[in-house]
Amino acid sequence: MSKIRVRIAPSPSGFLHIGTAKMALFNWLFARKTGGTFVLRLEDTDAERSDDEYVQAMCEGFQWLGIDWDEGPAFGDEPEKGAFGPYKQSERRDIHVAAAQKLLDEGKAYKCFLTKDELSDIRDTMREEKASTSFRSPWRDKTADDVAAQGDASYVVRFKVPEGSTTVHDLVQGDVITRNDQTEDFVIQKPNGDPIFHLAVVVDDATMEISHVVRGDDHLTNAARHIMLFEALGYPVPQFAHLPMVLDEGGKKFSKRLHGANVLDWRTDGYLPEALINYVALLGWTPEEENRELFTREELIEAFTIERWGKSAARFDLKKVQWLNGQHLRMLSPAELRDLIVPVLNEGGCDTSIKSEAWLTELASITQEKLSTLNDIVAQSDFFFKDVTEYDEKAASKHLLKDAGGAIERLGMVATAFRNVADWNHEALHEIVAGLVESTGAGFGRFANPLRLALTGKSAGPGMFELTELLGKELSLERIDQALQYLKTHG
Ligand code: GLU
Repeated sequence: MSKIRVRIAPSPSGFLHIGTAKMALFNWLFARKTGGTFVLRLEDTDAERSDDEYVQAMCEGFQWLGIDWDEGPAFGDEPEKGAFGPYKQSERRDIHVAAAQKLLDEGKAYKCFLTKDELSDIRDTMREEKASTSFRSPWRDKTADDVAAQGDASYVVRFKVPEGSTTVHDLVQGDVITRNDQTEDFVIQKPNGDPIFHLAVVVDDATMEISHVVRGDDHLTNAARHIMLFEALGYPVPQFAHLPMVLDEGGKKFSKRLHGANVLDWRTDGYLPEALINYVALLGWTPEEENRELFTREELIEAFTIERWGKSAARFDLKKVQWLNGQHLRMLSPAELRDLIVPVLNEGGCDTSIKSEAWLTELASITQEKLSTLNDIVAQSDFFFKDVTEYDEKAASKHLLKDAGGAIERLGMVATAFRNVADWNHEALHEIVAGLVESTGAGFGRFANPLRLALTGKSAGPGMFELTELLGKELSLERIDQALQYLKTHG
């Protein structure tokens, strides 16, 4: 196979949509797996807005995901890179116009001077007569003199769809055959000379020597037109692979208005880019290893094969993304996790500047198993940074107030024993409570539940003795006292 060159060709629309991210990821993984080239090309001619700001916002999404491009437009301080530029469609107009002219010169396209009204009359008649073939303009076969006689009247350039049929040999969808008489003579150039998407995309793919066009299956119906254009222009036809779109949890196309449509929403929500690409890769690719779901970036590149791309659309499954994110969080070293949770804590009103690096690393280590997202860290550990001002109502009524006398007694025993601990570490603390459990014959929970509530105000969180160790002796004793006071006034 000649050199693999793939591309993502998004229209910048203000953010990187999860669906575009999927197509980019599949192209990127394919390129990385095969030693090919991944190109970013901006289809910014019909963009809702083509502001640089929009481009930057979208590229920030790629950057966060770690989807880097080998060739593409300027971004931030980085200049344009690659030998096939420019990489913005808006800057390639001359190339497109020349291609339209070539088709005109060779009689493969024609100028169509139909007015709006004339066109709509023809379409009405076709509808009434239930025409079995697609639209062909009466201008298709006019002579040069007829055209010249129009002077400078406005026209569009239409492609003269050839006879026969067109087969898309799609690597995902299989062979898709269409009769050419079912494709109308489509416009390739507007009255103002601007190229239409179909022409631009074909010319750009051809001149950028794209070997595989991998994109959403919403473009499958365009592929026949594209193949006709490739052939008419004398370009080799690339391989096609049309991948299923990303659906929301309800099974509908993932609306851009939904939270999560913007790739950076996931960053905001405390997800790791590794988890998101792991998840998105599974939306349309089945790993060879049965039931395996967890992949690092490198493992994905290693395992990713185009032969295992599938055509059935996959619904978004938030639970699975959360689970994968938790798994990826657990793969981090405590120091890596610390660096990720510190900004989240600060954002969540927990001032980490009062803690040492070692302490924060320990916090990362004792909470690591409990996190689904980075944002969970705030609920898991805010009690280290803030006073306990209230107790979880349900847990307090069950573990403190239902048997206030008993709770007072047991917390008192814990306080006394803790006060005498010389070496404040979780093993020693655990041993103490285990000793009390044994000597009193009360269940472990009868000590641990009130203790957790006293120290954290919550019913769940990091490991009981690990958190007690990290909280420190003084603060732990203070909080037990505070709980005892509470019990005496509320119990
Ligand atoms: N700009 C098109 C899109 O975002 C790209 C089409 C293509 O990949 O050929 O859907």
